[in-house]
Amino acid sequence: MLRKSLALLLFPTLALVPALLSAQSASHAVFGYRDFAAQAKTEQKFLAVPSAELAGQHLKILTAEPHMAATPEDRKTAEYVAQKFRDAGLQTEIVPYRVLLNQPKVVRVEAFDAAGKRIMTGPNREHIDGDPFQDNPRVVMPFNGSSGSGDVTAEVVYANYGRLEDFDQLAAQHIDVKGKIVICRYGANFRGVKVYIAEQRGAAGVLLYSDPQDDGYYKGDAYPDGPWRPESGVQRGSVQYLFKYPGDPETPGVASTLDLPDSARIPNEKTGNQPRIISIPISYHDAAPILKALKGPGAPLGWQGALPFHYHLGQAGVKVHLVSQQDYQRRTIWDVIGKIDGTEHPAEWVVAGNHRDAWVFGAVDPSSGTAAMLESVHGVGELLKQGWRPKRTIVFCSWDAEEEGLIGSTEWVEQHAKALENAVAYFNTDVAVSGPDFSAEAVPSLKQFIRQLTQVVPSPLGGTVYSQWLASQSSPNQHSAAKAAPAAQEVHLGDLGSGSDFTPFFQHVGVPSTDIGSEGPYGVYHSVFDNFAWYTQNADPHFLYLQQMARVFGLEALRMADCDVLPYDYVTYAREITAYLAAAQRKETDASLAPLDFGPAQAAAARLAAAAEKAHAMQSAPSGDLAKLNLALRQTETALLSTAGLPNRPWYRHTIFAPGEFTGYSAVAIPGVNEAIDARNLKLAAQQLAVLTQALDRATSALASAQ
Ligand SMILES: [Zn+2]
Repeated sequence: MLRKSLALLLFPTLALVPALLSAQSASHAVFGYRDFAAQAKTEQKFLAVPSAELAGQHLKILTAEPHMAATPEDRKTAEYVAQKFRDAGLQTEIVPYRVLLNQPKVVRVEAFDAAGKRIMTGPNREHIDGDPFQDNPRVVMPFNGSSGSGDVTAEVVYANYGRLEDFDQLAAQHIDVKGKIVICRYGANFRGVKVYIAEQRGAAGVLLYSDPQDDGYYKGDAYPDGPWRPESGVQRGSVQYLFKYPGDPETPGVASTLDLPDSARIPNEKTGNQPRIISIPISYHDAAPILKALKGPGAPLGWQGALPFHYHLGQAGVKVHLVSQQDYQRRTIWDVIGKIDGTEHPAEWVVAGNHRDAWVFGAVDPSSGTAAMLESVHGVGELLKQGWRPKRTIVFCSWDAEEEGLIGSTEWVEQHAKALENAVAYFNTDVAVSGPDFSAEAVPSLKQFIRQLTQVVPSPLGGTVYSQWLASQSSPNQHSAAKAAPAAQEVHLGDLGSGSDFTPFFQHVGVPSTDIGSEGPYGVYHSVFDNFAWYTQNADPHFLYLQQMARVFGLEALRMADCDVLPYDYVTYAREITAYLAAAQRKETDASLAPLDFGPAQAAAARLAAAAEKAHAMQSAPSGDLAKLNLALRQTETALLSTAGLPNRPWYRHTIFAPGEFTGYSAVAIPGVNEAIDARNLKLAAQQLAVLTQALDRATSALASAQ
């Protein structure tokens, strides 16, 4: 309630913008620009355009109907976005791909106690009092993308969050999950990881549920009284093994264009990123009777959720019958691509994207991102009408089938991999607005870029996005995902793991990337309740944060498209790599493994740091052959890719960042080395250290070629 009244009182003042921009240009501190004065005028014109009211209209239209990938309603949203792109003057096309997707035919869960008495039948419908959207007949029943089909009856084991350490704890307590149905709560890792580990340990099926401790009443009032998950709310979602590779399961590394012959596709039963066991997501209303009836040892420390009884690990007491019939088909999906050709460097693309498909209505995820992007495009369109043209080509993208496994973006990246070697940035937004706390993740070389440009965008709370961001990190409220940074002088940006469309750009083809959002209490993720009514009640009643995100997102593209020198900060990048090596070495020592020789990798990181200092000096006082400098700067990121890719997952080629095999969403730094140490595989760790050393040396050579 506090948030709403604040937003009403403190309308953001655009009057602030000219002063902020002239401060940036006067200080000559805009990294990448020789003279910022002309750009400051362009940005000022741009920032005046994105409209909260229009963004709200886009959101309302985009969320009017459920629009899951490959449905007619999804196609309608593609046409809406394409029309807005065309209205703004972008060269626009709707790009189809034919990809393997499942849709649910039958999903059933029933449970019986030790005496054989039925204790639940489900799934029960998502329903609360008074939600105007929940009864739409096109709402898809809760299911997991990429789930197998099957009919299983077995005893149940509770596995907490389904992390590696949770399964290890069960094993230590002699609780065997083989042939059992594992029930896991959502949270702590990507849901596909839970299923992946359960499958590896021989489980017959998985039930996923949302515990009220994690996003329900334990956090605050549940919808409709507040923003948190109600009793019947279910988190749908993909359980694809995206940490192996994302995209169409049948075509890793290849674009699933309409004319790609079937012979070029891997048959579904042989794909490498699909679970072989079934999984079903349920509400805590449906999970409670199962958990309550479980016998066996009591929940260890940290395993107790917020349901009103003591949790047990199970193995006896309850039998569950799961039925999942999934209709797997090659279905057509639609990306929308809008281009503005660059006048000076047309081959250097600045790509900015957001997905459009939603599990249901998707007001927050992803339509807040689409509504914001459309107002960014509106702003760029006004500049075009006034005669402005970008120096580099700008490409706006509306991705499809992100929810099923980053499919629309991955197929497009695979199709354009060659051209993307010259792309200078990919800017992502997905959950653009669930509340007031700005947050960003980025490749280390673009962290400073984000800090700088958020200093000229006004916040609905007063001041700038940057000043509010800094304040929220210094005293994070209980809902904030931001990490506390005691007495921080500058904001902290996280690293890119996975879970959204930056993954193919950054981790497959090495395009420097960022991901931005504005966060708050959000308990309706992937449920029917993530809709326009929830959004206007809880997240952003006047669409001021959509306007804010439209400004930040558009500014990312404009600043990158028009800069003289690419504003990549390799000094920070090299410093972070050095720190990752030190941390890996400490971990290896703590694990009491025979010492690995980190010396060559550390020396290579030091050489990169020295080259970065020299490049930074050239970037700060740009003169001479800027094309040569820019090429060197761009090739440095590509140099960090390895041709062989990561062990057992060759699609992931970045040697510095990958989604963790056992975390999924969150990034693992220097993944080849760290995951080998985690697996206590010294031979592999040594080999991966050598691969990393070579990558760092390639990056150093690339950077040095600027001179
Ligand atoms: Zn999303």
